Amino acid sequence: MLLLKSRYLLKDPSTVIHDGAVLIDDGKVKFAGCANDISNHESCQIIDLGNSAIVPGFVNTHTHLDLTHLHNFIKYNGDFTDWIRQLVNAKKEWTESEYLSSIRSGIKSSLESGTTTVADITRNGLALEELQKSNIRKTLFYELIDFNPDSAESTIDNFKNIIGNVKQNDLLSIGIFPHAPYTVSEELYISCKSVSKELDICIATHISETIDEANFLTRGAGNFVSLLRDFDMLNDWNPPGLRPVNYMNNIGFLENGCILVHCNYLTGEEVDHIEESNSTIVFCPRSHKYFRHKDHPFYMLGNRNINIALGTDSLASNDSLSILDEMKYIYTQHKTSKPQDILYMGTIAGATALRLDDKIGKLEEGYDADIAVIDVKQEAVTNIYNGIFSQDSECVLTVVSGAICYDKHKVSKEASVN
Ligand SMILES: [Zn+2]
Repeated sequence: MLLLKSRYLLKDPSTVIHDGAVLIDDGKVKFAGCANDISNHESCQIIDLGNSAIVPGFVNTHTHLDLTHLHNFIKYNGDFTDWIRQLVNAKKEWTESEYLSSIRSGIKSSLESGTTTVADITRNGLALEELQKSNIRKTLFYELIDFNPDSAESTIDNFKNIIGNVKQNDLLSIGIFPHAPYTVSEELYISCKSVSKELDICIATHISETIDEANFLTRGAGNFVSLLRDFDMLNDWNPPGLRPVNYMNNIGFLENGCILVHCNYLTGEEVDHIEESNSTIVFCPRSHKYFRHKDHPFYMLGNRNINIALGTDSLASNDSLSILDEMKYIYTQHKTSKPQDILYMGTIAGATALRLDDKIGKLEEGYDADIAVIDVKQEAVTNIYNGIFSQDSECVLTVVSGAICYDKHKVSKEASVN
């Protein structure tokens, strides 16, 4: 058994306990509360983390770990399709081992920043091998790209064959990820949805990321047309004549909920569809800033009953794979957001989106012990959230399912045994 003690414990985003302790047994939380209330525990390893906050591990609900080595590689000039062209070119010559080392770097920096769960997107399946070697919790989404309706069936059969050989376990779930409405045919979207129901797996897609995407779907106009022509992907195609989320709703993609990544531009009607279907929006704050979008609808959705989770997207459009950094960014940019709500987005909302909310996202008895420990740096913080979200706070210990995956100061080596 392992006992973590620290000056602050947040059992969930709103429950702050001073001088807290978490007892971990067999990968699960056996106790979380006041350190004083846990005097009679059996023999265990004790780690005293001092002026830190023990919090539920962070959930990165959207990332592409295989692009980690593309940090600062692509220059964004205001045209998203140009950014895609650069991305495709940059990866063209990559060998398998370059992909693998990029993914490894991504896993490492996720764990080092307190992220205990990643929803990773894989195009070629290579991430599976690296992710399986790691103790990080993961939902691996297989990305499907095929704009030709005639090959939708073979594309989906191929996906089913691949994942038929993947053994899911406590730390690994599989998801399906039709890429975006400008690279996936309506037929393939519908097939993906039905496979997600058949296999009972999560489904997600990039949607409403740019204004250009809406122009493409409503009028068949804009830069995506030339992009698809250049990639020889545009066949006999008629635009659905609908805005992105309305289109997804129309083809049944939202039914029973799904994960909608970005949603940077939404009409009131589209917000209604998302709310009614219990779908999740994944907001990627710093990637959103990188692409110079207008304020995200998240900032106006306060009174709506919509699950909003956080993602980093990839390092091709961000500076770190840290959900803690995303939360700090919102905290400084959006002063009226409650810190409890921001922490909720980085923990429980992601767990809910990935259907893991009965296992992770809180530190309560029986939950899996997925934990981040944040050194708040300042000795006397009047408000612990100011400490957690201060610019110099940092993750010093990460635990997934009871296993220590990152230990900055090697405190576990010096732990006392009771
Ligand atoms: Zn993405």
